[in-house]
Amino acid sequence: MSELNLEMVNEDPNPVKKKHNARVEIDGELCKECLLCIEVCAPDVLKVSESLNKMGYHPVEYIGDGCTGCGVCFYVCPEPGVIRVFKKNKVA
Ligand code: SF4
Ligand code: SF4
Repeated sequence: MSELNLEMVNEDPNPVKKKHNARVEIDGELCKECLLCIEVCAPDVLKVSESLNKMGYHPVEYIGDGCTGCGVCFYVCPEPGVIRVFKKNKVA
């Protein structure tokens, strides 16, 4: 299993205004639609895409808001390198 990918990014000059200071990226071409990440995501910010990837799976997508950066989706994903979690202005 690869390491949790946390990056220092400074996209928002005033991050205290944001509800959550994190985001998740999913490589849809590598996702095999096991749905484990959706099951464990407490704020329910992941969804299944309507489109198919090259392997014939409907990949999971981030809805674009509400990620807390907890990293649980990263740890349950059985496919290496699919999920990356970013926390802004913080290294955890
Ligand atoms: S890091 Fe946590 S909150 Fe963000 S998508 Fe993954 S499980 Fe959900
Ligand atoms: S846990 Fe990984 S492989 Fe499974 S649906 Fe989520 S991103 Fe795809």
